[in-house]
Amino acid sequence: MLNMELFGTNVFNDAVMKERLPKNTYKALRKTIDEGLALDPAVAEVVANAMKDWAIEKGATHYTHWFQPMTGFTAEKHDSFISPTADGRVIMEFSGKELIKGEPDASSFPSGGIRVTFEARGYTAWDATSPAFLKEDESGVVLCIPTAFCAYTGEALDKKTPLLRSMEALSKQAVRILRLFGNTTSKRVISTVGPEQEYFLIDKKFYEKRLDLMLTGRTLFGAPAPKGQEMEDHYFGSINERISVFMKDLNTELWKLGIPAKTQHKEVAPAQYEIAPIFETSNIATDHNQLVMDSLKKVAVRHGLVCLLHEKPFAGINGSGKHNNWSMSTDDGLNLLDPGYTPHDNAQFLTFLMAVVKAVDEYADLLRVAAANPGNDHRLGANEAPPAIVSIFLGEQLSDIMDQLGNGGPKSSIQGGPLTIGVTTLPPLPKDSTDRNRTSPFAFTGNKFEFRMVPSSLSISGPNVVLNTIVAEILSQIADRLEQAVDFTTELQALLKEIVTQHKRIVFDGNNYSEEWVQEAERRGLPNIRSTVEAIPVLISDKAITLYEKHGVLSRTELHSRYEIFLEQYAKHINIEAQTMIQIGKRQILPAVVKYTTELAQSIQMIKAVASSMPASAQEETLKEVSWALASFKEKLGVLERLTAEAKSITDAYEQGVFYRDVVFTAMNALRADGDRLEALVDAACWPLPTYSEMLFIL
Ligand code: ADP
Ligand code: MG
Repeated sequence: MLNMELFGTNVFNDAVMKERLPKNTYKALRKTIDEGLALDPAVAEVVANAMKDWAIEKGATHYTHWFQPMTGFTAEKHDSFISPTADGRVIMEFSGKELIKGEPDASSFPSGGIRVTFEARGYTAWDATSPAFLKEDESGVVLCIPTAFCAYTGEALDKKTPLLRSMEALSKQAVRILRLFGNTTSKRVISTVGPEQEYFLIDKKFYEKRLDLMLTGRTLFGAPAPKGQEMEDHYFGSINERISVFMKDLNTELWKLGIPAKTQHKEVAPAQYEIAPIFETSNIATDHNQLVMDSLKKVAVRHGLVCLLHEKPFAGINGSGKHNNWSMSTDDGLNLLDPGYTPHDNAQFLTFLMAVVKAVDEYADLLRVAAANPGNDHRLGANEAPPAIVSIFLGEQLSDIMDQLGNGGPKSSIQGGPLTIGVTTLPPLPKDSTDRNRTSPFAFTGNKFEFRMVPSSLSISGPNVVLNTIVAEILSQIADRLEQAVDFTTELQALLKEIVTQHKRIVFDGNNYSEEWVQEAERRGLPNIRSTVEAIPVLISDKAITLYEKHGVLSRTELHSRYEIFLEQYAKHINIEAQTMIQIGKRQILPAVVKYTTELAQSIQMIKAVASSMPASAQEETLKEVSWALASFKEKLGVLERLTAEAKSITDAYEQGVFYRDVVFTAMNALRADGDRLEALVDAACWPLPTYSEMLFIL
């Protein structure tokens, strides 16, 4: 069943609230949601009761505070609604207190040194702006309440808290700008996000034979299939029935959760697909993207498939990313990045547009770190995804207008003479006036920006925290100046001209994959931060701390905590990959190849025994080649083992990260090269791992 009625059936959404809550309660709750006002405990009590009744009617027995710790996954701890009565029976209860606050033990979640184990207490707090929903599967139905997660001492231990704070910061500053342009009606500005999610699907039977996929999400060995993506026959290709049935099931699941799944298609690589929902507020879009990733995995298994969300599951073909489409909109529905058709709108639009340009240029390194994870290190700059250099694509028309702004406004116009912005100078800007540029990391696409560096498996919280905060900062600078201006129009024009002059270096409409761009970007002074480890220290730079503290998004302590967590996660990640390689190498590849060489040797002996003149050169040459390759493989296994032991002994987190990246990772690649060579030489029947051909083409 996939129809309109299905949409949102498992969501405690506005319609349900309106229907089930007393009018006053509904109004009070709406105020909390729409205006960010504190929630009255009495209101919470009524809401909790209605929520419980609704959930129980739909089969729920348990509830959970659903939160997003720094693992990047979601967490839940189920509590049943039951409460014992004096006569030995139970009733179903759920209080306002249980709705608004939870106290999970925080000691087993990453905290980056914020809490010591004896202060293990953590709090989850209801986020009324993201609707509660029901998770439903074979095991039953659970009411999930989206919550923020923080330490006993108040620091954020999760991905939601800073996102909510950054949305507040952006709203505050953007409203100041709107007021300057004479808008007196919009109360809030909301950042909107539509994430396009890429993923792979492979048959479960292959997955189960690949320890590397099971433990690390990517293939650590694997010779290329004779066919990859060179025929360009997968992108937008017709979807086979097994996958279509999966997608239908997935859409049902997502629609029930109120997730507006809209577009689905095959991606560039074999076995690769994409799903894109319609955009929502960045908070809900982030929650929903987590649910999309969960649902992809869950539904795949029902169809005998496994969904791989890793950025680079297979070497040699494209990996997966997530395009984070981002814009700002007023609470009364005005998209601030919509160029519009009137000059007046254009001036306001250009102000917001130029604020983004300046923000991205000044804080390119923060955007870079928001797109960093070990998986993405395989993609950025590898000619399949944008390079590690942040730049902006504006398209021909906007770039031209930007040039004109820099030159003091267009000189030739209907009325003649130099003109001022906001009056008649600027032409209406039709949407889609220019071609797309698929190589750009940050592209203006008609009425929104598309941040294309985001890793497929990552929570989109981080990238949107950065976008919201850096734009809030520049808007606050602009508002500071314009609020003091004697002549608004003159000051605005001067200000925009200044931004163009100072920040046009970030605009690049050419091919971001080319080597020339790398050199050109260097000449322009744009940072090229090549890896995750190099990117992470930006988090604790003075610049970042000043920015995040000024807007109340992350404190110095919280930033240091994130710095520690990310470095630690990086080191652990590479270590698990290395250990997995060692295990596959020793326990699967080595024994298989030994068996094969033994067969070859026996074959040679037996042939010679029949008649010494009988040729066995094919066997002899193969044996030689395989034996040498195996010797080299064994040696590299030893090297990797030694280096991982050495990495563990490094105490400084950053140094350890650098060692993993430069030394351990290099040794892994060398071992893989030998392993893949062996795969190409050895009898297919005795190779212990499913091959790329099988995994990518048997579906
Ligand atoms: P394409 O890039 O293929 O043209 P769309 O233009 O439909 O695709 O947009 C891709 C994503 O961008 C979708 O998730 C869409 O909902 C989202 N999007 C569209 N408008 C906005 C907006 N104003 N803010 C944030 N995301 C948006
Ligand atoms: Mg896109």
